[in-house]
Order: sequence, then structure tokens, then C-alpha cells
Amino acid sequence: MNADVVVVGGGGTGVAAAIGAASQGAHVVLLEKNAALGGTTARSIGSISATQTADQKRVGIFDTPDEHFEDMEKFSKHHADRPDNAELARILCDHVPESVRLLNEWGAVFLGPMDEPPHRKPRMHQIMPNSAAYIFHAEKHARKIGVAIVTGARAQKLLTSQGEVTGVEFERNGRIEVLEARRGVILASGDYAADPGFKAQFVSEAVAATEAVNPTNTGDGHRMALELGARIINPDMYGGGMRFVRPAKPAWQSRLPPSAWLMRGCNLVMQHAPRSLVRHFVMSFMTTVMVPERKLFHNGAILINARGERFADETQRMVFELALQPKGMGYVLGDARVAKKFTQWPDYVSTAPGVAFAYLQDYERTRPDLVRRGDTLDDVARELGMDAAVLKQTVATYNAGEGPPGRGERPPLGDGPYVVLGPVKNYINYTDGGLAINTSLQVLGKGDVPIPRLYAAGATGQGGLLLKGHGNHIGWGFTSGRLAGQYAAALAPRA
Ligand SMILES: Cc1cc2nc3c(=O)[nH]c(=O)nc-3n(C[C@H](O)[C@H](O)[C@H](O)COP(=O)(O)OP(=O)(O)OC[C@H]3O[C@@H](n4cnc5c(N)ncnc54)[C@H](O)[C@@H]3O)c2cc1C
Repeated sequence: MNADVVVVGGGGTGVAAAIGAASQGAHVVLLEKNAALGGTTARSIGSISATQTADQKRVGIFDTPDEHFEDMEKFSKHHADRPDNAELARILCDHVPESVRLLNEWGAVFLGPMDEPPHRKPRMHQIMPNSAAYIFHAEKHARKIGVAIVTGARAQKLLTSQGEVTGVEFERNGRIEVLEARRGVILASGDYAADPGFKAQFVSEAVAATEAVNPTNTGDGHRMALELGARIINPDMYGGGMRFVRPAKPAWQSRLPPSAWLMRGCNLVMQHAPRSLVRHFVMSFMTTVMVPERKLFHNGAILINARGERFADETQRMVFELALQPKGMGYVLGDARVAKKFTQWPDYVSTAPGVAFAYLQDYERTRPDLVRRGDTLDDVARELGMDAAVLKQTVATYNAGEGPPGRGERPPLGDGPYVVLGPVKNYINYTDGGLAINTSLQVLGKGDVPIPRLYAAGATGQGGLLLKGHGNHIGWGFTSGRLAGQYAAALAPRA
């Protein structure tokens, strides 16, 4: 089998890379190891930040890539200890408007744009009805322009000749096959959020023990490139934390077909409907992906495991100990004061920044599976199938300010009626360690010299770019993928 350009991975980046190359006339084969395309892209919240979009223009927002670039630096300041890759940030800001324009052209419809300070203008766009729509539209377009998509095909080795990358060895149905690339290979295989080995080596044992939202991103592209002398920048960076478990069945809004016409209709209705109705609609699918605010714990709620025991200081940025509890899960227990407080601004249970704030009553309405109430601790224990004596002892110890872990300055847990939220689990959403690349998205090998005919994009080719703030990971995926595809297609074929 051969192709002009071989793309490894079928998330947003890979499909964009395949389209980028095929739209230049290249014969493209995309290898995806899972049975369907999607990757983390299709499991994400689905926001993308961009300027000069049709949605911004519709509501009269004049915005520029320069302003986007300047605002991104404000987020990066949280990482003053690490340098950003300003050249790649510039590429993102300059080219993401075209990525959104193309997504619109392929049929994607967005809600927004929404505010996300310190961005000075609303530029966060939320795909409708959910992030699987990115893949739905992009895959349809890729197939239309002739991209050959091979699923169930796991790339495992880069083939080389005289220092050049010449193709990919992959495994399909238990057989090893070879795919030659006349022009180039693009690694778009996501991150290593689900690879315990890389996570233990680069981050920590606690992160290695924590499950990933996407269980199949195991750093395969990174590993293949490392074998050729590449290196990873910011290998210890990751995004993750405590999350409510997903519902057994997605909300009906999430199950709507992402058809462009239907979504345009929904969007039109949302633009003119009363705010309460819009909020109702948004909340119904947002509460399937949100995280509990740490403010709950600062206000005296406690985190308990399935046995009713406290096991960690719940106010930490990430409660690593959660992953080590029975079934890796826990519950947030609040007293009557917490139950009353978290029903109105500014005391929200969760937020999808710029999109919505969710209060207890929103969870009760849209995620009844996550909310339980009990007048007494005996009731709570019965609801959760715990030993009431253990739960009462946990509360007494916490209230006495004893530990470990201690209570600190937080209020004691008062009387009922109590509210319980959960189960919650820890998840690693993504890792930010990307291969070192240059501004043409070529992978850098020994001595930072480009490895001929090898490109990386999206999470695999993050190259030290700090994608802080929302909507920049997907923006980088679609943008870097598309450009890598164009660059690879423009190479002269191997002799
Ligand atoms: C819960 C959650 C919410 C998020 N929300 C947002 C958000 O709202 N906005 C935002 O910008 N970012 C968000 N992110 C991050 C963002 O989704 C990812 O960083 C981005 O989608 C990565 O895209 P990608 O194409 O590079 O990787 P992926 O989408 O993960 O695609 C990689 C693909 O490569 C395939 N693959 C891997 N190895 C091989 C192999 N050996 N051979 C063949 N195929 C292989 C995988 O199966 C996968 O399909 C979120 C992440 C999570 C988990």
C-alpha cells in the first residue's frame, strides 16, 4: 500500500491534516487505531477560540489575531517558570480563523462567541450539539475529497531510509502491514494521557494511577518519534482533576444528529429565545461534563470515599488520593448550609467558563443520578450503602479539627438536611508534552535538525506551546493539522 501523505491518528488534528494534504491534490491515507475516528476531540467539551469568525461578525465584534495573541500571553503568565513557544502561538492565532471558517463550510455550527476573561473580547465558540460534531463534519468532508480512512490500524513504527521517513508500519487484524509515504508522514496520534509508563516517567506515580478521559491515547506517535531522536517539550504538563462521572445515557440534546440544518435552526432559536430557555437547553448537556468547584470544600463540604471515610485535603488543586480509593471514586457531602448556599450566584457548583454556571437545582433537574439528600447522616449512609457508624465518625473527626487531613480554617459540617453530590472520579484530560517541532511543523531530531519528511501536529506536535485558556487545544489541533497536511503535500515525492 502507498500514499503521498500518511496521517497517523483520526482525531480533529488527523482529519484536518488529511484534508489539508488532500485539498492540495495529494493521495492521503489516514490510519486510526480505534474502530472509529474521534479521539479526545470527540470526548471534549468542544470549545474553540478564534477571531474574525462569522459568529463574531454577526454580533458586531471586531477582533484580530493580534489581540488573540496578546491575550493568550496573559494566560501563559500562570506558567512564568516555563517559556512559551511564541512562534507557534503566532501560527495558532493567525490561522485559527481560517480553521473555523472551514469548519463552518463543512457544516459545523457554533454557539457563541462567549466571553472568557482575560480574553478582552468574546471569542470562544461552542460546537453544537457536542464535540463529536467536529469529527462528523470533518470526516464527511475528508471522505468527499478522497481521503482513504483505515480504522482498526495501529501505527507502530516509522520506516526510514537514509535518514528520511519513508512510511509507517502498522498492525491490523493481528497482521503487520506497511504503508509507504511518497511525500511525508504526519503524526497526529494525540497525547499520552492514558499511558501509565510515560505518565510515571514524566509526571508522577499518582498521575500514572489516574485514569484518562480517553483510554486509548497512549503516546504512540511520541514513542515512534523518540526512536528517531526527537524530544518532548513540557513532558510533565497535564490537565485533569475531579469530575462528576458521565451519565449512563447522554442527554437528549447530545444525541441530536449534528446536521448543519438542524443545528442552524437550533442556533437561530437560541439567539431569540428567552435567556431562561437557552440556559435550560445548555445546562442539560453541560452538566454531563462539568467538575465540582473547589469552593464547595472551602465552604465546609467534605470528600468521602465509598466507605464513608475522608482520605485527603479536598481543597488541593488535584486530590490525587481519590484515584486510590475503592473504585477510584468519592462523594461530596455538604450540610444544610452548603445545600442552601450553592443555589445562587456567586456560589455555583460548576462552571463551563463563559457558557454557563450550574447550581444545585440544575444538577437535581438535569443529573438526578448525581444528587442525593438525607435529613440525617444515617439517611445519607443508607442512600450510599455505607456503614453509618463510619460516616458519623468521619464527620466527628473532621469537626474536631483532627486529621489527617485536618480541617484548617474551614467551617465544621453542621446539621442536615444533607446533600451528597457524586460519584466523582479523577481523570487526566490531556497531557501537554508535545514533540519539538519547527514552524513548518517538522519534527526536530538530534541537534534539533528536522527529521526529513516527518511532521507532527495537535497534541503530538505541541512543541512547547502553552495552550492555556479554553478552546486553544482544539484550535491548535485543527490549525496545525491543516498546515502540516499542506506542507507535507507540497514536498516533492521521493525518487
Ligand atoms: C473532558 C475534556 C474536555 C476538553 N475540552 C476542550 C475544549 O472544550 N476545548 C479545547 O480546545 N480542548 C479541550 N480538550 C482538549 C482537546 O480535546 C484535545 O487536546 C484535542 O482534541 C487533541 O486533538 P488531537 O487530534 O491532537 O488528538 P485526539 O483527538 O486524541 O486524536 C488522536 C487520535 O489518534 C489515534 N491514535 C493514537 N495512536 C495511534 C496509532 N498508533 N495509530 C493510529 N491511530 C492512533 C487515537 O485513537 C485518536 O483517535 C478537552 C479534553 C477533555 C478530555
